[in-house]
Amino acid sequence: MGIVPLAEVIETLYRIDGRGYKSYKKLSSIKFSISGCIATFTKIQSDPYAPPSVLEVEIPYKVHKIKELRTPVLDFVSRIIHSASRTYSAKRGTGNSGYIGIPRLSPCIIYRSSAEARGSTLVVRLYMGLPARGRRVLGRIAAKMLREYLVGILSKIDDFPNKYRVKLEKHVTVYDDYFFIRKWLRENEFVSFIANGSILPRKTSRSDKPLPNAIPFMVDESCSEEIELPDGKVLKGLAIKSGITVITGGGFHGKSTLLNSIIEGIYPHIPGDGREYVVTLPEAVYVKAEDGRIINGVDISVFINNLPSQIDTQKFHTLNASGSTSMAAGISEAIEAGMNIILFDEDTAATNLLYKDKFMDEIIIEEPITPLTSLCTDMKNKGISIIGVMSASSAMLPHSDTVIVMRKYRPTIIPPQKIRIDNDLYPKKRACFRKPRTRRICLTRRTRIKAKNDKIVIKFNNQNYDLLVDNPRIVEKGQINYAAKIIEKLIHENICLDTTSLLQRIDDIIHRGFITVSRIVTPDLSVLYPFDVLWIINRLPMINT
Ligand code: ADP
Ligand code: MG
Repeated sequence: MGIVPLAEVIETLYRIDGRGYKSYKKLSSIKFSISGCIATFTKIQSDPYAPPSVLEVEIPYKVHKIKELRTPVLDFVSRIIHSASRTYSAKRGTGNSGYIGIPRLSPCIIYRSSAEARGSTLVVRLYMGLPARGRRVLGRIAAKMLREYLVGILSKIDDFPNKYRVKLEKHVTVYDDYFFIRKWLRENEFVSFIANGSILPRKTSRSDKPLPNAIPFMVDESCSEEIELPDGKVLKGLAIKSGITVITGGGFHGKSTLLNSIIEGIYPHIPGDGREYVVTLPEAVYVKAEDGRIINGVDISVFINNLPSQIDTQKFHTLNASGSTSMAAGISEAIEAGMNIILFDEDTAATNLLYKDKFMDEIIIEEPITPLTSLCTDMKNKGISIIGVMSASSAMLPHSDTVIVMRKYRPTIIPPQKIRIDNDLYPKKRACFRKPRTRRICLTRRTRIKAKNDKIVIKFNNQNYDLLVDNPRIVEKGQINYAAKIIEKLIHENICLDTTSLLQRIDDIIHRGFITVSRIVTPDLSVLYPFDVLWIINRLPMINT
């Protein structure tokens, strides 16, 4: 099919004005030219309340003039489209009528379906709510949405590098610096870096925006590390060594805020976020107690053994985990997947999995749990790092390599040898750590998964996982939508793989692009790490062999 001029589409819209909503289907798959680009409705919604139609626009090099369509540039394009479309989007009739735009973006620089590279062509995808009153087509308004609003949005992409030179360069530099720092972390056996001057707290617990008037992060000169960036700029800040780190301090002094920033450091952040120079190795996993979760044949025997029910904890199955078993499973699943940096916060952890004092040890004779503090030294010797927020107990201090004390949002590092610990408080038992045995994960057709575009909750069986809350490695809805599509594909293929092969399979799907998981690519997909797809799979009801 050839490319028709925009005028022809406008004519069609005028002709169908006032007719039934199905008349919009006439526009389906027609390629039309607009502002030097080629646009196509790849999906036409069936009614005004349905998720909006999808418009794909191919923008040739001669229009955008971007030399290299790299992730940070594409991320910037998405942000421009998002803010431009907000000025045009409005309710113009029933349901989603008049909506034009892309879903909200987190402050992380991520590859998304809203702006992609196809060779030197920039592919932009937008939602467009084709307008109607009741079920009658509002053709004139639809025409205006294309002729004025879409044209207006596209004009922001025209000669892109020239329009946004300074901001765009900053965006790309921050992104490149992020990976430079990550490499530096690996070379120096650090796991995370938090630069002085970073703004860590957010406006509210569900907000991505920095807290106004926050106290900037600042570590004492004596404990700070220095890194010189490629452009000569020198950053100073706190570098956390691999090994065992305890973050402590009084209540409300910023411990959890620091830990949350550390986990979000697995992604680069946009300039202005405040966490541009907070960098963490991507193997970091934040584990929590998740009572009630499903566990699928996970080997949690290092932590939990000899349950009164005689249940095999080397292949632990449950549809309703306790606090301690759920947290043990979270750690075991992470290590099984090769993730070797474990983060936890006493606020959200199962205390009995963390420690047990000597007196309780004497009273409780039949204890299935070996707490993390008895295992952590051996875990460290086997290459696993731990960063834990603990202020209620000193149990981990004797094992720690770094102790960070937060006071009024400012960290101080105390050398462990300076800490006086009453050695009689905790049992001396040190347990051996053995890596959990790996499972085969089978996804059968019976498993159902659904992610609603407008919801951040995925519902499996009768359990709700609010992924943006439960897994802080997932930072935007687009990642949930994409994960759901990847899992749907794996289910369809009836896969039965060991964990490592499954992670490779997921990685492979992601590398082959969004088109691999959906015939029509919607604008609401964002890339995530393979581990986080596995994180969801681990919580699905399924069968392992
Ligand atoms: P803790 O875990 O030590 O109890 P939090 O990290 O939860 O403390 O922080 C307590 C409160 O202080 C939160 O409301 C948080 O937003 C705020 N806060 C954290 N860091 C800063 C900062 N650097 N400047 C101002 N307020 C902060
Ligand atoms: Mg806290």
